[in-house]
Amino acid sequence: MLKVDKIVKYYGNVKAVDELSFEVKDGEIFGLLGENGAGKTTTFRIIMGLLDATSGTVTLDGKKIDYSVTDQIGFVTEERSLLSKMTVKEQLSFYGALKSMSNDAIDQAISCWLKRFEIEDYLNRKIKELSKGNQQKIQFISAVMNHPKLLILDEPFTGLDPINVKMMKDAIYDLKKEGCSIIFSSHQMEHIEEFCEKLVILVKGKPILNGYLADVKKSYRKRNIHIRGKKIDEKAISKIKGVLEVVKHANEYEVKIKDDSVVPLVFEQIKNAQITKFDVMEPTLNEIFIDKVGESYGK
Ligand code: ATP
Repeated sequence: MLKVDKIVKYYGNVKAVDELSFEVKDGEIFGLLGENGAGKTTTFRIIMGLLDATSGTVTLDGKKIDYSVTDQIGFVTEERSLLSKMTVKEQLSFYGALKSMSNDAIDQAISCWLKRFEIEDYLNRKIKELSKGNQQKIQFISAVMNHPKLLILDEPFTGLDPINVKMMKDAIYDLKKEGCSIIFSSHQMEHIEEFCEKLVILVKGKPILNGYLADVKKSYRKRNIHIRGKKIDEKAISKIKGVLEVVKHANEYEVKIKDDSVVPLVFEQIKNAQITKFDVMEPTLNEIFIDKVGESYGK
């Protein structure tokens, strides 16, 4: 289990991380969200032992992060950190050796992962000759080939087409099943929504929301009503007290309301129209993110 306890990081006078605490249990996927400059990379670097926190502690299975533990942490980022003149085989063998894997274990991992990611033909090709997506796969393999206890994924799907995203997602789920603790960061909220049971949102280094996604959604009172049909009086709906906004999509209206109490009022207004759909939905993580980040800036 990873435990991050009240970490603070100053760069000179800039407070990049401000009292951040969270836990990621074995087999759990945790989302670390924040706008550009919110402090995610700084947090990752502290967790990996590349940067000292000004105060606070990070432990993996109760041990402080030092050289004896860093082998157990895999890291995938959108920036390419590959040695581009090496071949795929040389690169993966190099990383395997750095992680103290035996030659047999390295060979087995290489053949198994290249097969799984359908890139067996690239074994002896130079990294720089590979497409972006295939380079990303090699980076992923480098990070997970020794079955790490902790895997940090920072925008891991950049450059991948939907089929390869699915392939990598399946691999991530398998690592989760093995008990790997996973931290996932992305600006694409649908990935976070799909993957993470727990999350934290950072604004200027400070956690403004922290907990289980299901609880976050439940405690967030706003709802969206999706209405489809004919003769819907959009103006009349928008005048109802508690209606925040009416958005017209291609085939339906989305009525954003302040809480559940507004649902019957909207229903009353449209009940005589020719309605084919009336669905009350929880907000998306994207909406919660924009709202919460906006609130914290007093918008
Ligand atoms: P992004 O989503 O854009 O990658 P981030 O959430 O990863 O952003 P960080 O890179 O951790 O954010 O930056 C957090 C804050 O710390 C920012 O205000 C940034 O300008 C500052 N910062 C980051 N690295 C340094 C550094 N080496 N020296 C001084 N300030 C830094």
